[in-house]
Amino acid sequence: MPNFSKAQFVRSALALFLVFVTIVSEAYIGPGAGISFLQGLWVALVGIILSLVAIVLLPFKLLLRQFGVKKAALMLIAPAAMVWLIYAYTPQSTPDEVSGRTIVLGFDGMDPQLVQRWMDDGLMPNFARLAESGSFQSLATTNPAQSPVAWSSFATGTGPGEHGIFDFLRRSTDSYVPDFSISETQATKYTIDMFGYKIPTEGGDIVNRRIGEPFWMTAENTGLNATILRVPVTYPPDPVFHMLSGMGVPDLLGSQGTYSIFTTQRLDATGNRRITRVIPNEKGLIETALGGPDDPFANGQSLAQPFTIKPAPRGIEININDNKFGLNQGQWSDWIGVHFEMMGYLRTSGLVRFLLVQSYPLLKLYVSPIHIDPYNPAIPISSPPGYAAELADNIGLFHTIGMPEESWSLNEEQISDEAFLEVIQTTLAEREAMWYAALEEHNTELVVAVFVQTDRVSHMFYRGLDENHPLFDKTTKTVRGAVRWIYQEADRVLGETLKRLDPEDKLIVLSDHGFAPFRKAVHLNRWLAKAGYLAFKPGEKGTDSLFEGVDWSKTRAYALGLNGIFINQRGREPSGSVAVLETKALKAKIVEQLTNIVDPETGDSLIREVYDREDIYPGLAIAEAPDLVIGYEKNYRASWQTTLGGTPQKLVEINLQKWSGDHCIDPSLVPGVLFTSFPFPIGTEKIQDVPDLILNLLEIQTND
Ligand SMILES: [Zn+2]
Repeated sequence: MPNFSKAQFVRSALALFLVFVTIVSEAYIGPGAGISFLQGLWVALVGIILSLVAIVLLPFKLLLRQFGVKKAALMLIAPAAMVWLIYAYTPQSTPDEVSGRTIVLGFDGMDPQLVQRWMDDGLMPNFARLAESGSFQSLATTNPAQSPVAWSSFATGTGPGEHGIFDFLRRSTDSYVPDFSISETQATKYTIDMFGYKIPTEGGDIVNRRIGEPFWMTAENTGLNATILRVPVTYPPDPVFHMLSGMGVPDLLGSQGTYSIFTTQRLDATGNRRITRVIPNEKGLIETALGGPDDPFANGQSLAQPFTIKPAPRGIEININDNKFGLNQGQWSDWIGVHFEMMGYLRTSGLVRFLLVQSYPLLKLYVSPIHIDPYNPAIPISSPPGYAAELADNIGLFHTIGMPEESWSLNEEQISDEAFLEVIQTTLAEREAMWYAALEEHNTELVVAVFVQTDRVSHMFYRGLDENHPLFDKTTKTVRGAVRWIYQEADRVLGETLKRLDPEDKLIVLSDHGFAPFRKAVHLNRWLAKAGYLAFKPGEKGTDSLFEGVDWSKTRAYALGLNGIFINQRGREPSGSVAVLETKALKAKIVEQLTNIVDPETGDSLIREVYDREDIYPGLAIAEAPDLVIGYEKNYRASWQTTLGGTPQKLVEINLQKWSGDHCIDPSLVPGVLFTSFPFPIGTEKIQDVPDLILNLLEIQTND
C-alpha cells in the first residue's frame, strides 16, 4: 500500500466526493437513479467522516502525549464535569401540553346521503352524536369534483383558477400529451445530511403544482405548530412541524404506482404494470428479478433485484436478499426490502409486498409498486426528513406512495376483492396508528389527517351498493357490504378520535366530495368527432389510444382528462386551428349542443351542465385549465379512454369494470360533508371556506 499521509487521504476523499457530486447532477434520470448515487456517496463520505474524526481527536492525542494519561484525563474530565453540572441543574423547559387544539379529520369521498342513511339506521353512532352535539351539513365541492382539485381548495382557501389544479391530469400548453397534474420531478435537488448540515448536491426540483399558501403554513408562520398527515397534494412536504406527504408521492420508479406480475402464463403489460413471464426448472425453481428504476449507465435498461421462487407445501417460498419466506395462496407478505445495485456498490432501496394470487402450476405472483422506504427515503416524503423514520419506529413500516390502495390492480382484475380489502385494512390501520399517536402527543395546535379509504372502497365497491349497476347481480355478500363497512370503520375512527380529545379541542370532520353510481361511460371524443369538432386523417376513425389518427389541422376541439374539453387554439396548441377571436363563439356552440345530448339507449340526459372556464375560474392560474368543464349527470362519467385522449366507436358504453362508483360529475350532485364539534359555522358552505374557519379557530386560541 502506498504511503498516504492523513492530509493526502482527506484530499483524495474530498476529490472523490466532488467527482461523485458532479456525476450525480449529470446522471440523474428518475428518482431511483438520482437516489442511488447519493446512497453510494455515503461510501465516499464514510472516508471523509473517518478523517474528520481523526482531526477532531488530534488535540486530545497531543494532550495525552504532553501530559500523560492522568493529567490529560483530569484536564478533559474536569471541564466536562462542570458543563454537565451546569446542564443538570439548569431547569429544563419541558414542552407545554398544547390545549384547545384544532383537529381536522378528513374522509375522502364521504357522501352526505350515505352518512345520513347509516346514521338514521344507527350504524354510525359517533357521527350521529357529533351531528347532534355540534353540526352537520353538506359541503359544496369544487368544479370539477375531483380529489386533487378539492383538497387543494381545502389547503389554500382558493378555487382552481388560483391554485392551478384542474384535474388529476394536466395538459401542458405545448403538447397534447397529458401528464400527472399534482407534482412534477424536474431532475432533483437532493441533499445529504452530515452532522446536521445539509450538503446540496445540485440539480432541479420536485415541484408541488398547487399554488398558494396552505393554512398550515399560515398557522406555522404565526408561531403555531402543525401536524399534517397524508393530506392529498402535499408532495413534496411543506416545512411544518410534522408532515407526512399524501397523494402525489411517487413510487421508486417515479410513477404513481407501477405493479409487477410474475407468471407462467401470457399476460400483456399496461401502463400500470410490468409483466415477467417465468419458466420453472424441473424442480419448480424460478430464478427471476424484480425490475427497478432505470440504470443511468445502461441506456434503456432497468436495475434489477434478483430473487427466486420455489414450490412449498401450501404455496411458494421466496428467497430475496437472503430473506426466505413462505406465502400461501391469497396471502400478502410483510414488507420486504429490495435493493437495486449499480456498479457493484451504489444502490437505492425500497419496500414491496408480495401477493400470491395463484400457486403452481399456473403461478401468478403479484408484487406491489416499490414504495419509498421511510427509514431510507429516496425522495423527501416527510417534514422534517427524519419524521417518516420516527413514525416507522412508533408504528412500524407503512405504505408511502400517494395512492397505495391497489385500485388499478383490482380494476384490471389482477388481484381479488378480498386482497384489495386487505390492503384497505392495512392502510387504514397504519393511518389510524399515526393519527392516534399525533393526537396523543399533544404537541401541536393544529392536527390534520385525511383518510382516503372511504373513497377507494366506494370507487371499487359501488357495484354492490347500487342495485342498478350492471355488475350488481354478480356481486358477493362481501362486495355488497363493503361501502357500508368502510363507513362504519370511519365511524369507529371518529369514536377513537373523540376519546382522545380534550374538552377544549375543536373538531372538524369533512370530505372533499360525495359519491354517485358509475354505470355508463361516455366517450366524449366520439361525440366531438360526430359533431365535426374532432377530425381524423383519411382512412382513420379513431382508437382507444391518445388522439391516434387525429388530423389536428381540421380539429377544433378535443376532450382530455376526467372533465375537460380543450379548444384547439391557434398559438396555444402545438397544431392549433381555431383563432383566439373565434374561441368564444365556438365554446358557446359546443355548450349548447352538449347540454342536449342523450343516452341513445334510454334517452336520458348525459350532461347536466357545461361550464366555461371564464365563468367559473376567477384567478390568474388558468393557463392549463380546460376551456370547457363537463358536469355529467348522475350514473355517467367520462370513459377511461376519453381521459387519455382516446376515441372508441360508441358514444356511450356500459361500465363493466369494478371501478363502479365515481364523483367526477356535476359538482352540484356530489357535495361532501362537514361536521363540527361546535355550533354550525355560518359562512362555511364550500370546501374552500374551510381554511378560514380553521384559522378563525386558531386565532381564537392565540388570543386566549
Ligand atoms: Zn375518488
